[in-house]
Amino acid sequence: MSEMNAAIAGLQKLSLNPSLGDEIVGRINRLGAISETPEHLARVFLSKEHRAAADLILAWMREAGMQAHLDAIGNVCGRYEGERPGLPCLMLGSHYDTVRDAGKWDGPLGLITAISCVGDLHNRGRRLPFAIEVTGFADEEGVRFASTLLGSRAVAGTFDESVLGVKDGAGISMRDALVQFGLDPDHIGAAARARSELLGYVELHIEQGPVLEAQNLPVGVVTAIAGATRLAASLTGMAGHAGTVPMLLRRDALAGAAECIVAIEEFCRTDEGGLVGTVGYIHAMPGATNVIPGQVSFTIDMRAPTDAHRKLAVADIVRSIENIAKRRKLVLQLDVTHENRTVPCAAWLKSQVSEAIAGEGYRVSRRHGDDRYCRYRHDLRALPRRHQPSSRRACRTRRRRCGRAGIAEADREFSSAGAGRSNNQYDEPAVTSTCGDQRR
Ligand SMILES: [Zn+2]
Repeated sequence: MSEMNAAIAGLQKLSLNPSLGDEIVGRINRLGAISETPEHLARVFLSKEHRAAADLILAWMREAGMQAHLDAIGNVCGRYEGERPGLPCLMLGSHYDTVRDAGKWDGPLGLITAISCVGDLHNRGRRLPFAIEVTGFADEEGVRFASTLLGSRAVAGTFDESVLGVKDGAGISMRDALVQFGLDPDHIGAAARARSELLGYVELHIEQGPVLEAQNLPVGVVTAIAGATRLAASLTGMAGHAGTVPMLLRRDALAGAAECIVAIEEFCRTDEGGLVGTVGYIHAMPGATNVIPGQVSFTIDMRAPTDAHRKLAVADIVRSIENIAKRRKLVLQLDVTHENRTVPCAAWLKSQVSEAIAGEGYRVSRRHGDDRYCRYRHDLRALPRRHQPSSRRACRTRRRRCGRAGIAEADREFSSAGAGRSNNQYDEPAVTSTCGDQRR
């Protein structure tokens, strides 16, 4: 990577183009106006607004001196050749679909910044000893077909063609929607990139958390993409009349769940290693004011900067919940519904991003990202195709079932830069001049 390091060091010495920030913000505002509804931003996969956004991004890429095309899943792909044609590329980018009622920075910040930076190189007549590719991933959010990361899966070569038959809320299959968009669903395999074509992947993304803002920092470095374990828990007790069952004879599933939830919160709150745990869903049966809840289901989401830490924490929490259930004479069922391991970002990219931030006079904040980022690009971490996700396996032991989803191997040459401030509602973006070397 020494040639690449030298080239990037050279770029850092270029005089700043003061109009670049305005151009980036202006384009993000234009993209943010392409929405299904005027009241809030919504631009879902393969909609006509999605197509209009793709066309606009393609035009910006061409204006920036890139060869640009749509691949078979709808990713907008631009390539700026290096000193000679056909060199491996540094890939930059982000996604251009949105959730409903989205923030305008989420996705376009990384995509538009990358395009404008390439445009700046183009205007200066600069070529690098490697190519730059900018990819606008067509689907990250999974809003329309409830299947996320379709764009990056196609690029990583892990796209599951069985999802082509999935229908949206209006009964339109993904296959038909792709055809209506002007794409050929039979060629999605051709969107996959070989590992040898890429030097690395870097993404600037808005921070979807409060840390940088709390530290009054405009930008930081993601060190790893946090793994996550999700569990579905169910507690079964005995439903009964709220007026006639004495307290000491009750087996109240909701009170048991409440104790579990407080235990999870306390466990994570007192952890000093960055562990976070969330119970985001709960449902009580039969759910009547005057009935003792007989059955309760809830979810648990656990994340930590390292797999070892997360696994130990999950084991401790499971033990704690089992004890609570036992003491309260409740029947516990726990299912692992999702397991995604931590992906460390490439050390050489992290150090370059850090140097670029420090070079602008900012303190360098390093934190792991959340698994959104991981869902988030993203399957590019699975680029080495020898490591395809294995099929889902499940084992059943007593009342506890452990599902283990296959985990894609990390691509070590993967990094991202995070701009401060959370997703929505900010008039000024956190764009720094350290273009390109950013993380999400
Ligand atoms: Zn995003």
